[in-house]
Amino acid sequence: MTPKRNGAYVGSSTDVVERSCDHCAWHAVDDTYPDLIERYQNHLRAEHPTVWLRR
Ligand SMILES: [Zn+2]
Repeated sequence: MTPKRNGAYVGSSTDVVERSCDHCAWHAVDDTYPDLIERYQNHLRAEHPTVWLRR
């Protein structure tokens, strides 16, 4: 069973996942979803601390 993820495109194992920020033009692409989420959350914490704290 493949879990459905919100906010990111997940393709086959050879594809990358990508995430864009809801609050600015920041955008990232990575090989694995956990790495990408870590980068996005680091971005939120650094650039949008109020958004980060609300999560
Ligand atoms: Zn942002």
